Amino acid sequence: MADNTKITWTDGTINPIVGCKPVSPGCANCYAAEMAHRFKSKVPVYQGLTTEQGKWTGKIRFNPKVFKKLPKKGRLWFLCSMSDMFHEDVLDEWLNDIMDFVEMNPQHTFQILTKRPERMVEYFSQHDLPFNVWLGVTAENQEMAEERIPQLLRLDPTVAFVSIEPLLEAIDLSVIPNSNQLDWVIVGGEKAGRRSRQMSSKWVDSLANFCGNNDIAFYFKQWGTNPLIISEQFFQTDYSFSYCTDFPKVKAHGK
Ligand code: SF4
Repeated sequence: MADNTKITWTDGTINPIVGCKPVSPGCANCYAAEMAHRFKSKVPVYQGLTTEQGKWTGKIRFNPKVFKKLPKKGRLWFLCSMSDMFHEDVLDEWLNDIMDFVEMNPQHTFQILTKRPERMVEYFSQHDLPFNVWLGVTAENQEMAEERIPQLLRLDPTVAFVSIEPLLEAIDLSVIPNSNQLDWVIVGGEKAGRRSRQMSSKWVDSLANFCGNNDIAFYFKQWGTNPLIISEQFFQTDYSFSYCTDFPKVKAHGK
């Protein structure tokens, strides 16, 4: 269970880059922008990153102070939960410093998730991809899944994962070439109060079935605040609002 974050599929977050700007429909109610806005008076590094309405200004900031000594015991760390590490304004030097930190901590595993996989592919085509990095893309709808997952699968990380949160419509992963090579699929609904877009349990079932049929670990994070529980699968198996929360088989060291 995470300690400094509510993100349950990691143990903690490290944020060497903060700030962002929306890139696709999944960003409409960006949780990171909301957090940066809420804590800007207590956390100086967030100042100037959000508008009065709590949206990103588009300013990006590098914060190398977070490169502290990590515990001896290896853990999972989600890198850059308060930004997108492959945002176009992130300098290559910053990425190099982040990857140096990753390589200096081989007992730890670092999860990187992006909505900008083209730059991720470009970067790791020119730099080594350490074994202790898991790479993921967000795919909130069919269009983003078809655009981003093939980019991710051009690389060969220890774990290739897709975060489908917020799940905004039915997504058919089977039409995406080589999608059975994914190691991990995370699914969740939107948690944005009254603004939350609806997620149907049928869409969740379909993704869970795809993962089950293809030996892909399936992690159901949460139903969000606007779930539509209509599927027979939900009623037959009594998921009690939890579903399964599997982690990929390769958890810390390379394949
Ligand atoms: S890419 Fe991520 S951090 Fe950036 S605006 Fe979209 S949801 Fe927020």
